[in-house]
Amino acid sequence: MSFSRSEAVPADSLPDLAATLGTPVDGAFARLGDAFFTRLPAAPLPAPYVVGFSDEVARMLGLAPSIAADPGFAELFSGNRTRDWPSHAMPYASVYSGHQFGVWAGQLGDGRALNVGELAHDGRRFELQLKGSGRTPYSRMGDGRAVLRSSIREFLCSEAMHHLGIPTTRALTVIGSDAPVIREEIETSAVVTRVAESFVRFGHFEHFFASDRPDLLRALADHVIDRFYPACRDAGDPYLALLETATLRTADLVAQWQAVGFCHGVMNTDNMSILGLTIDYGPFGFVDGFDAGHVCNHSDQQGRYAYRMQPRIAHWNCYCLAQALLPLIGLNHGIADDDARAERAVEDVQAVLAKFPERFGPAFERAMRAKLGLALERDGDAALANQLLEVMHASHADFTLTFRHLSRVSKHDARGDTTVRDLFIDRDAFDRWANQYRARLSEETRDDAARAAAMNRVNPKYVLRNHLAEVAIRRAKEKDFSEVERLAQVLRRPFDEQTEYDAYAALPPDWAGSLEVSCSS
Ligand code: AMP
Ligand code: MG
Repeated sequence: MSFSRSEAVPADSLPDLAATLGTPVDGAFARLGDAFFTRLPAAPLPAPYVVGFSDEVARMLGLAPSIAADPGFAELFSGNRTRDWPSHAMPYASVYSGHQFGVWAGQLGDGRALNVGELAHDGRRFELQLKGSGRTPYSRMGDGRAVLRSSIREFLCSEAMHHLGIPTTRALTVIGSDAPVIREEIETSAVVTRVAESFVRFGHFEHFFASDRPDLLRALADHVIDRFYPACRDAGDPYLALLETATLRTADLVAQWQAVGFCHGVMNTDNMSILGLTIDYGPFGFVDGFDAGHVCNHSDQQGRYAYRMQPRIAHWNCYCLAQALLPLIGLNHGIADDDARAERAVEDVQAVLAKFPERFGPAFERAMRAKLGLALERDGDAALANQLLEVMHASHADFTLTFRHLSRVSKHDARGDTTVRDLFIDRDAFDRWANQYRARLSEETRDDAARAAAMNRVNPKYVLRNHLAEVAIRRAKEKDFSEVERLAQVLRRPFDEQTEYDAYAALPPDWAGSLEVSCSS
């Protein structure tokens, strides 16, 4: 049976889905050629079962949500069927390189992920990638697997981030298996199907730069421009425009991370999306008690990827991308002399990179102004927001709850301050700040109720706190997946009161302080 790309796959048609996935279409990454990837089937995953599933992502892909109940579903999304796929349609692991923790790491690549193909729906095309599907030529010392724990965290967080309005890869499903994997202790394996318009990373560009293949570098850049950034084609220098677009998107992304207290944990250049998506959920975390130096990744002993470092690191990563793109920049300047062209290209690239802070600063200020419920712009707003962060930092006030409860502060008097004030150890410091805030609010024309409603649309009540994920993971290890489902549901409406789920918005319990999240996943 044939299947048109614009139609939804019928619920009872997993074989059609498999056939569609394996047919690369024009402009697909899979058409770039053998230098970009290695085709291979997934390693068999014994007795797979469904741990989590997103109806919403299924619909986004044009799939009927009922496919998750099909007995063949777990087999397909564990990768077990891929052995039978024709060689031209085999899944592939792509090759990339990157800077890890600030140091050039050379070749990396999809060491435990396979792209299984694309689905088109509603005018958009998505790549589907199985993460944890076994060893690839890029696995180095790794086993190619992902553990249930980290797969559930990726599934929940990518969906949560999307509903916070933050660009991210999505996740269709988590498939588990009792097959053991060895980490600090013995755990079980899982495969996440993640979904994005592209999984191209800064590291893909760095790879072809470092291997001195300007032809392949150009093919990759053309793929990204033609498919995702067609406006760059019309710019004077399309590759410089590509750098600029990626740089600005990255600045916007990190401003959004900072505004919700999200720490990525491993901002290596191979974990930076050329589309400005949040990608590679590993030891990420939302800050609970605010500490500007919060490091969510237990393996990051230098604190390179601390909360307050994220903007600087993102900017640094853009420098790496810029270096990789340099051979393509200025080719159309008409400068015959190579050195002169290179010199001009460096100047152009530096001018583009200088736009990162120019973009990040105002984007973060805008986000903070909205979080404070300030509809008007006043000169002191950025300082007011920074002072709040300082007071929060000194008191380790809960990041999410502080902003959520701030909407109860009235512009008239201090009666509404109590809930937020109680989050601060240093109440006097909070009061001093609140008085300044109230003075500023008195300049606003909106009344308290309208401001509170607007604030509650940007300050989430629910974020994926580590301890919430941990509870879902513990239950899932006992084969009860209902908490994964429930938590995913709550996080799909992070700004709504959902009073029946108030417990999910509470301060973390004491035991949460001892949770450690490391690179081991
Ligand atoms: P990460 O920092 O988790 O994004 O991973 C960095 C590199 O290590 C990438 O090339 C991954 O594909 C690879 N990698 C991480 N964990 C494993 C694993 N268990 N098996 C194989 N490769 C892995
Ligand atoms: Mg990675």
